[in-house]
Amino acid sequence: MDATTMTITEAGAALRAGKISVRELADAVLAQAKAENVETNAYLEFYDDIDEQVAVAERMFKEGKATPLTGIPMGVKDVMLVKGKLVTAASKILANHRAVSDATAITRLKASGAILLGRTNMDEFAMGGSNENSAYGPVKNPLDHTRVPGGSSGGSAAAVAMGGAIASLGSDTGGSIRQPAAFCGLVGLKPTYGAVSRYGLMAMASSFDQIGPFAKTVEDVETIFHVIGGHDPMDSTSVPDHHPLKKPRAKKAHLTIGVPEAFVDRKGIDPDVLATFRAAMKKLEAAGHTIKKIELPLLPYALPVYYVLMQAEVSSNLARYDGMRYGFSAEGDNLLDVYCRSHGLGFGPEVRRRILLGTYVLSAGYYDAYYNKAVAVRRKITEELEKAFGEVDLIATPTAPTPAWKLGEKTADPLQMYLEDIFTVPANIAGVPAMSIPMGKVKRDGVELPVGLQFMAPVFGEDLLFQAGKDFSTN
Ligand code: GLN
Repeated sequence: MDATTMTITEAGAALRAGKISVRELADAVLAQAKAENVETNAYLEFYDDIDEQVAVAERMFKEGKATPLTGIPMGVKDVMLVKGKLVTAASKILANHRAVSDATAITRLKASGAILLGRTNMDEFAMGGSNENSAYGPVKNPLDHTRVPGGSSGGSAAAVAMGGAIASLGSDTGGSIRQPAAFCGLVGLKPTYGAVSRYGLMAMASSFDQIGPFAKTVEDVETIFHVIGGHDPMDSTSVPDHHPLKKPRAKKAHLTIGVPEAFVDRKGIDPDVLATFRAAMKKLEAAGHTIKKIELPLLPYALPVYYVLMQAEVSSNLARYDGMRYGFSAEGDNLLDVYCRSHGLGFGPEVRRRILLGTYVLSAGYYDAYYNKAVAVRRKITEELEKAFGEVDLIATPTAPTPAWKLGEKTADPLQMYLEDIFTVPANIAGVPAMSIPMGKVKRDGVELPVGLQFMAPVFGEDLLFQAGKDFSTN
């Protein structure tokens, strides 16, 4: 029995049957994580209280209080607060910052008895798509060390892909769970906006951010979603449990899956990714689902809208790191000087670029031309998607237009990196849930690289994602 390749379901069954102990499972996964980490840099820190966590989980088993996550070793993106632990958002500006409380998602994982192994590497403040913007060095894709794992939750994806965690948590503002899941051959879910509490998640762009899981199977992702989800009074955007939007929908055996043909078959999409996507649609059809071509003419505008609104929100959210209240503070001749030097020395180049551009689109003379225009187009895109979900149950696209690229390949040109987000940002724009599942492999330099299939569902339609995802994976 190899503990490092197990799913949550398998590990849970082995634990319950006494085939492996919580201690043995944690030790095996931790040993693998430490060995692989030398090369991949997926973890920034392994926690020092794993023994205590193991004792809690063992007690839960003994007392008959075990949950499906009890004893499951997990990684946590370095952007969620874990009480007493360092949390840096992979930035120098927060190098010595310790969390004074737990994020709600962490509180819920702890209550379920999961073992938190450590904090995982990421792009600084979750800004990026390759994990190369970390102040603590890039992460290497465990499937090919010359390539990126995707980002910004690259460490959380790599940790699972290298057998150094059975599952992990990431955050997704424009694709940061789904794209690394695709690049590392995993399942990754961005829940409906308001489904998982953002309390204790360091804000990047508050109207887009969501916490979500990475795992090896759809079933595992579903398990974690049900643990971390649900109303939280600490987050005003968290949707109450009995809200009409959350009403379960009638189950259908066969789904209608919309494919926005013109959006998918576009310039810049890798022909092998497109061919894999076509094969995936055939497979879904063979499983009894209906594939329907749809038109979503506004979808291409999601990317520019995202890069205006996200940067505006970033520039406001990151103003709090002023060298006064949190983290790193530079010496200066006067207050303004301290602010400027703290930002200049504490933040990396991508974060500085986004703060500058965000400040620009919010400035008095350009507010209407950029910010307000983008807000209006966001509404239109959301309406277009809502209308589409009147006709189809799900919308399918590839998760990313290419497989994982080489480290350094896109760092010189930020626009090339941003274009990789074309398929993932619409879900964040509209607040709808979306999930990436492995749809096949493409060969590059003799290595088989995984590519992801993305499903988008209407708000609180996570069940539809799970249904289609399981159907695709087992068929
Ligand atoms: N790659 C996107 C960006 O750079 C998404 C980031 C995210 O989801 N946190 O903004």
